[in-house]
Amino acid sequence: MRRLILFLCLLGFQTALMAAQQYDLVIEGGRVIDPETGLDAVRNVGVRNGKVVRVSTEVLSGRRVVHAGGLVVAPGFIDLHQHGQDMASQRVKALDGVTTALELEIGAPDVAQFLKSKEGHSLIHYGTSASHVAARAAVLGAPLPAGTILPKSGPATDLPATPEQIEAIRQRLRAELDAGGLAIGMGIQYVPGATRLEVIDMCRLAAERGLPVYTHMRSAGRVEPGSSIEAVSEVIGAAAITGAALHIVHINSTCLRDSLECLSMVEGARARGLDVTTEAYPYIAGMTAVNSALFNPGWREKLGIDYGDLVLPDTGEHLTKQRFDELHNSNATQWVLVFANTQEIVDKVIPHPLVMIASDGAEGHPRNAGTYSRVLAQYVRGKGTITLMDAIRKMSLMPAEMLERSTPAGRQKGRLQEGCDADIVVFDAATISDRSTFEKPMEPSVGVRYLVVGGTLVVDEGKIVPDVFPGRAILGRGRVGAGAGRK
Ligand SMILES: [Zn+2]
Repeated sequence: MRRLILFLCLLGFQTALMAAQQYDLVIEGGRVIDPETGLDAVRNVGVRNGKVVRVSTEVLSGRRVVHAGGLVVAPGFIDLHQHGQDMASQRVKALDGVTTALELEIGAPDVAQFLKSKEGHSLIHYGTSASHVAARAAVLGAPLPAGTILPKSGPATDLPATPEQIEAIRQRLRAELDAGGLAIGMGIQYVPGATRLEVIDMCRLAAERGLPVYTHMRSAGRVEPGSSIEAVSEVIGAAAITGAALHIVHINSTCLRDSLECLSMVEGARARGLDVTTEAYPYIAGMTAVNSALFNPGWREKLGIDYGDLVLPDTGEHLTKQRFDELHNSNATQWVLVFANTQEIVDKVIPHPLVMIASDGAEGHPRNAGTYSRVLAQYVRGKGTITLMDAIRKMSLMPAEMLERSTPAGRQKGRLQEGCDADIVVFDAATISDRSTFEKPMEPSVGVRYLVVGGTLVVDEGKIVPDVFPGRAILGRGRVGAGAGRK
C-alpha cells in the first residue's frame, strides 16, 4: 500500500513536471505542414536541444515563444545544389527558407578543406560531394586554381584519361569520400574527354560505397549525336549497369525543349526499378563559366542560341563573337548567364511530380536568392499549378529522401515531426516572394519570418540574427560516426 502511494506520488510529480516543461523554443499557433505524414493543421511546436520534441494542440511553454498565427510552419528547405557557399549567399538562402545548402552537382575540390573552412562559420547546414571534375583535372595535370570548381577548357578536360589515370582519379575520389563526401559529383559536360567507360567506372565506385552520383549530363540540345536524350540515356545506362543511385541535376537547363521527354525517361527508368531522381530551378537562364568546355566549338548549334544570349551578370553586357572569344580563351573564370530556355518549358517542368526544387545558386544569378520563394509565389499562389503541400514536399521531404542515400542523417531532415532535427521555416504564404532579378540578383526574398537551424533562430521577425552559426556539416557514410554534426 505504502509503495502504491509512493508510486502515485511520483507519478503525480512527474506529470506536474511535464506540464511545466520548458522548451528552448516554442512556435505557437502556426499552420504546421509536414508532407510525409500529410499533417496540415494548427499546432504548437516545441523545440529542445536542436530537436523537434513536441508537435501538439496543447499549450507549450518555452524560453522563447514565437507567435506563428496565420503563418505556415514547415520543414526547412534543403537545397541539394548550391555552389555559393560564402556568407552573403548563406544570408540570402536563409531569407529564402533554406536550412541546408549542399554543393552536390560538382563538389568541392577538397572535401576536408571545405568542411574545415565552414566549421563554426555557417549559418545553415552544409556538405559536399567528391568532385570528379577536380580529381580528373589534378590527375591530368591541370589542377583547379584555388577558389574555383570548374576547369578551363583544354587538353585536361577534352582528352580521354588512360587506364592508369582512371585509377588515379579513383584513388583521389576514394580519399574524398573518406573525408566525408556525400556523393560523387560528375559535371560530364565540363570534361567532355571523359569516355562512357570513365562515367561507368565512376558510377561503379559510387555503388561500391553505397553512395549516389549527382550529374550535370554530357550534353544539351537536339543535335545528334550529342543530344540531351543521348545524355539522359548515358547516365541512366550507367546507373542500371552499376547499381548506383543517380540524381540528374537541373533537367530543365540540360534538356531544354526536350525536358518533358527527358522526364518521361526518368519516369521509365524508375518504373523499371532504377533509383533515378531529378531537380530543376524556376528560371529560364542558366549560369556557368564562359571558359569551360561547355562552350567548346559547336555550343551555338547544340543549344540553339547565339553570342548575344550570353550575358555578363555584373554589367548586363550581351556578348559578341569577339568578346566571347576573349573570355573563353582567358584563364580567369568569368560567370555568364545563358538564356537558353523558355518560360513555357520551365512552367511545365517545375510542377512535375518527379521534380524536386534545387537552386544551382551562386552570386550573379537570381536563383541564388530567390528560388524557393519564387516557387511559392509563382506556382502555388500565382498560377496555382502546385499545391502548398506539394511545393513543400519538393523543397524539403524529397531532397531529404535523396540525402538518405548518402547518410542516415537525412532521415531526421525534411520532416516536421517529433524526434526530427529542428530545421524549420516559418513563412507568410500570402506574401512570400522572390525579389532577386537578373539585374539585382542578390536582393533577398520577403515573407520568411522565422528560420530555425538546429534549434537556433537564424531569421527572427524577418531579419538575420547576428553572430549565430548553428550550421553543421552533413557527412557521407565514409565518415559515419566520425564528424561534427553527426546525429
Ligand atoms: Zn550544372
